[in-house]
Amino acid sequence: MESKTYLKNLYLDALALNDLPAVRETASTGTVSEIVGRYLEISAMHPDTDTEAPDIRSALIQKMKKIGFFGLTIPKAYGGLGLGLRQYLKIVEMTMASGMALGFTALAHLSIGVKGIVLFGTEEQKQKYLVPAASGDMIFSYALTEPNTGSDARNIQTSATLSDDGSHYILNGSKTYITNANLAGAMTVFAQLDKENPGFMGAFIVETDLDGVRIGKEMPKMGLKASSTAAVRFKDVRIPRENLLGKPGDGFKIAMTILNFGRVALGAGSTGMMMQSLQDMSRRAEQRKQFGVPIGDFELIQEKIVSARVNGEVASAISAYTAAMLEKDPLAPVAIESSHCKLFGTTRAWETLYDALQVAGGAGYLTTQPYEKRMRDFRVTTIFEGTTEIHSIYPALTLLRKLAKRMRSETNGKLSQIMFVLKELALPPRWKLRFHHRTMNRAKRFAWVNAVLLRWMLAAGLLVYGRRIAQKQFFLRRITHLSLYLFGTLALLSRIDAARQRGRDLAAEIDLLAYFISSASKARRSDGFWASIRRERLHRKIVADLRHQLAEKPTYGRRKEPEVAALSSADRRTHEAS
Ligand SMILES: Cc1cc2nc3c(=O)[nH]c(=O)nc-3n(C[C@H](O)[C@H](O)[C@H](O)COP(=O)(O)OP(=O)(O)OC[C@H]3O[C@@H](n4cnc5c(N)ncnc54)[C@H](O)[C@@H]3O)c2cc1C
Repeated sequence: MESKTYLKNLYLDALALNDLPAVRETASTGTVSEIVGRYLEISAMHPDTDTEAPDIRSALIQKMKKIGFFGLTIPKAYGGLGLGLRQYLKIVEMTMASGMALGFTALAHLSIGVKGIVLFGTEEQKQKYLVPAASGDMIFSYALTEPNTGSDARNIQTSATLSDDGSHYILNGSKTYITNANLAGAMTVFAQLDKENPGFMGAFIVETDLDGVRIGKEMPKMGLKASSTAAVRFKDVRIPRENLLGKPGDGFKIAMTILNFGRVALGAGSTGMMMQSLQDMSRRAEQRKQFGVPIGDFELIQEKIVSARVNGEVASAISAYTAAMLEKDPLAPVAIESSHCKLFGTTRAWETLYDALQVAGGAGYLTTQPYEKRMRDFRVTTIFEGTTEIHSIYPALTLLRKLAKRMRSETNGKLSQIMFVLKELALPPRWKLRFHHRTMNRAKRFAWVNAVLLRWMLAAGLLVYGRRIAQKQFFLRRITHLSLYLFGTLALLSRIDAARQRGRDLAAEIDLLAYFISSASKARRSDGFWASIRRERLHRKIVADLRHQLAEKPTYGRRKEPEVAALSSADRRTHEAS
């Protein structure tokens, strides 16, 4: 598979698509099934991980260490199990299905905590840190978010300054919501190296027992209670120069490259959640009778089960497709692809969790059933590693920036810009993909139309809105969705084609593909130009009206203080790591 930016290349550069890589579904055999089996044994010993009791947490960690869970993807040369990314994702998928909280500590350690050292570490750094990381003796965190800077990660305030003798960096600043903070022996910490040049960052390996590192109290969370989340403060911490990952200035790129792995893992974990919910809904639909028949006979119940099946398949296919690119080249620029995995997986899994509780009826609302805990644990996935809102606009913005750069370099003046855009529009994507099956060719056509529309929107958006395009979030989201549906379709086609080459009966998979493109076409239509224009005009009127009302009467009902003010002050205290 090409290691250059796959989707960006498809939309802006080559435009040609002559074949698809054959990305098969990963089998849960060998080491994968062995690890999952042992994990499930541990899980059965701790059915209720919804506790903050430190003894339970440390007992759990000891058991996880024993089965090698902290070293799944760390190369064998450093004491890990050296699993490939797709094997790891299969484990994430299957373990998340059995409960998210239990394995979260080890998965955050591997997916993001220690990943920077695996990808960018020197041999000395790897020898020193990967060996204890693989055994679980040194657990890692990934520390990017700060009290004042979350989504806008390029503008973090933590700073690192090189000492006069050049032997070490002096780190100052605060991080918050850091997973594993109170368990971590070390963290990958991101800091600005040049205050005048935000984004010129360093990525540092920071041992938590260094002078000046203060970890805060556990933050009281809605879910994932078996994991540790806390704030961290760095005050004049002296970091040896050799603990810098990569070169000065590489920090932001390192932070984003690591997140590619975290996001694709969230896509796989979401698949697990959907598959588990599918199983629960199917069983319940068979067993529960109302109006004299199993509730599974009702179309409105079947619809939820079908959605879970289809969306689970799509999330699995796009994660595997992205993982195949990363397996070929771990530094492959798959930011758009991994963003799609995260956005699609977590939002669809959240809807599925809602549906699963709904199918269980009143029983689903009881805390004795798994649904409420699953929803509490999973809720955060649409927030961390980039929120749903950020992933809804980020792929479109990335594409637009690239196109704008090209336009600036190839044009001078409005007229030549118009010519540039017309030229862009005149070039349709050239796809020579052919399949044996009618539905597959129909799906290819659907994806191709998405590519055409997407290119029109990019070009027209640039011309009509210019720099204001960054504020046109509905427009950006529509571009992102076109890309997401295209990616889902190609990944399913690739999976089906790989199965065909192995002589499998494809009827069931073809039906899933047909269902996906039918619902994606419906979404594309409702996101169409005129419908969107009307809705957006109304949206602006309602926002203006609400702002006006709020200016006149700043509280709702009879409450004197807006509740959010009280929440903020409590919130501030939890960010204090001193
Ligand atoms: C349990 C938990 C574990 C976490 N673990 C880690 C960790 O290990 N390491 C780490 O570094 N961080 C971690 N985080 C932090 C997480 O990544 C951030 O919370 C997340 O990036 C959002 O940042 P924020 O909370 O500051 O929200 P904000 O950025 O303030 O966003 C608030 C709201 O505004 C929206 N918004 C922001 N900007 C835009 C925009 N341009 N357009 C539209 N909407 C926008 C957001 O989508 C969101 O809905 C964790 C968080 C939690 C809750």
